[in-house]
Amino acid sequence: MDLQTQKNRISELHSLLNQYNYEYYVLDTPTVPDAEYDRLMKELIDIEGQFPELKTADSPSQRVGGGVLEGFEKVEHRTPMLSLGNAFNAQDLRDFDRRIRQIVGDDFSYVCELKIDGLAVSLRYQDGIFVQGATRGDGSIGEDITANLKTIGSIPLRLKEPVSLEVRGEAFMPKRSFEALNKVKAEKGEEAFANPRNAAAGSLRQLDPKIAASRNLDVFLYGIAGVERDTVTSHSEGLNWLDTLGFKTNKERTKCPNIDSVIDFVESWGEKRPNLPYEIDGIVIKVDSLTQQDRLGTTAKSPRWAIAYKFPAEEVVTTLKDIELNVGRTGVITPTAILEPVKVAGTTVSRASLHNEDLIREKDIRLGDQVVVKKAGDIIPEVVNVLVERRTGEEQEFKMPTHCPECESELVRFEDEVALRCINPKCPAQIREGLIHFVSRGAMNIEGLGEKVISQLFAEKLIVDVADIYKLQREQLIGLERMGEKSIQKLLSAIEASKENSLEKLLFGLGIRHVGAKAAKTLAQYFENMDRLAVATVEELTAINEIGEKMADSVVTYFSKEEVQELLQELKTVSVNMEYKGPKLVAMEASDSFFAGKTIVLTGKLEQLNRNEAKERIEALGGNVAGSVSKKTDLVIAGEDAGSKLKKAQDLGIEIWNEERMIEELTK
Ligand code: NAD
Repeated sequence: MDLQTQKNRISELHSLLNQYNYEYYVLDTPTVPDAEYDRLMKELIDIEGQFPELKTADSPSQRVGGGVLEGFEKVEHRTPMLSLGNAFNAQDLRDFDRRIRQIVGDDFSYVCELKIDGLAVSLRYQDGIFVQGATRGDGSIGEDITANLKTIGSIPLRLKEPVSLEVRGEAFMPKRSFEALNKVKAEKGEEAFANPRNAAAGSLRQLDPKIAASRNLDVFLYGIAGVERDTVTSHSEGLNWLDTLGFKTNKERTKCPNIDSVIDFVESWGEKRPNLPYEIDGIVIKVDSLTQQDRLGTTAKSPRWAIAYKFPAEEVVTTLKDIELNVGRTGVITPTAILEPVKVAGTTVSRASLHNEDLIREKDIRLGDQVVVKKAGDIIPEVVNVLVERRTGEEQEFKMPTHCPECESELVRFEDEVALRCINPKCPAQIREGLIHFVSRGAMNIEGLGEKVISQLFAEKLIVDVADIYKLQREQLIGLERMGEKSIQKLLSAIEASKENSLEKLLFGLGIRHVGAKAAKTLAQYFENMDRLAVATVEELTAINEIGEKMADSVVTYFSKEEVQELLQELKTVSVNMEYKGPKLVAMEASDSFFAGKTIVLTGKLEQLNRNEAKERIEALGGNVAGSVSKKTDLVIAGEDAGSKLKKAQDLGIEIWNEERMIEELTK
């Protein structure tokens, strides 16, 4: 590429990165994922590396952080607050290690620390008293946020020794506080914070300290700037000293003798990271000896003796190439985004659910758009937003079809639903999806009958309904793709074994509208066999706590159909079990616990048990824990800060206990 093209690209990158910096550091509302920012920054640094004459003093690659907000006093940092170089893989870490060796030789060790995803703060103490706290700002000048920092309980106002020093650390918002804050914001109709980092930054840069005080912020200190050096000789000693002075440091730090053990540490935290109560976005690796740190020195932007390893991104930008439509087992048409394949959180993603037409409209998703895709934990990838500023004009609006893509019958949209549905009961896609559901793990759990095999058997008309599965013969399976003698044997045994499943599995597998796995279990427990359930009336069904009118209607309608009766008869003929085999309800009701047979709702923050523990223990005593308060609720257990559920319970006159009373009853 010629110089002019590079110049143009550099100017584009400057303007994008400056915009993103402003949104991130000043407004605390980023519009692109960090990985996208990092990618553009890397591109800029690479071009500047090849064409040094294009590197200007005002390049975003040469600057730390963002600006300083109006309204705060400015604080000049006596020691600059720098950024960190980035590493994205093991090779980057090895390159870093090589650069260090070239300067200090082989005799050194590293300290690895969690890279807390918050914002850097600097705290100044005079004779052991906290006198000033500041943000990083542009690295040289930050904002005086002393009043806000004083509201963070873990920042000591007086140290255990009367020393004068400046310490650096990361202020952050724990995940729980972040979720709670966004929930409150949503209830008030306010815009949510994009992530805990922005929430922490937004909270500390409020002019009213009461707001910061209400946000449950926390801090970890990770460095000393400005103290007599002979007190400590290494970074790790420094951290230990901070502990003795009364500061809160992160305990997950480790000294590593070489880069291999650093890489091990990095990898192990990649897996353990979701279990932490706060967000980390990487691992910071620092040379331990302070003398060696001095020898390595710093660049304008970051120290040479440290680097930040960044975990694989959970949000990235890619192109949406197409939108595919899938017909589900209930006839719902789900649009799926077909994406330019991209690595998200370590795996390649090429599809993301778009849920329904409204979502496509709401997010204004068009074919050809650049979109942000997210994958957190095990959740299926989703399209977070569209980068409207990157549109070229070529993008096309997407229109949902009027007819089923599989059977071509007209689609309908029920009044109270967002989904478009195919209501043709003979739609092949629905039947196929219904079969896939029937054999799935939560239902009849027939191993070896995956989506692909079912689709083949269905296409060849070897199975038309679920009863056909039990009539499959060895000979019919022989011709199928990837079906050897062994897999056929295994599959036939799995089909045979599934006949013995307890009733709830079959009930869930049949795919009765509104009957999920939990409701299937309840129905099975109450009615104990299919024949009894098949003649149940709406009144009998709604008499059960967990069964509402909608579900009761659906169950009665289902069993009233002639084809259903025929199907059940066929299943009986092939000896599929129709009895409930789990623990009997009578036994649970007979439990002499207060909770037995009662419907209980937990709300608010529990102190001694977490929600799940409380739920499990109540259920073990025969209670049923429900998610929302209704007339059928027998008891509400309200922890701290209980909100709308508590109010509803009060309005309905339902008995209300506090946590202590619950514990008393649980431990009787
Ligand atoms: P950085 O976040 O990559 O690393 C430096 C920071 O790490 C320090 O300032 C400190 O705050 C923090 N840190 C956390 N734990 C630490 C520890 N144990 N020891 C030392 N430091 C620790 O660099 P940066 O300059 O703060 O920010 C740049 C990053 O911010 C980018 O890489 C990008 O991911 C993100 N960013 C995103 C956007 C966007 O629009 N999405 C815009 C600007 C910046």
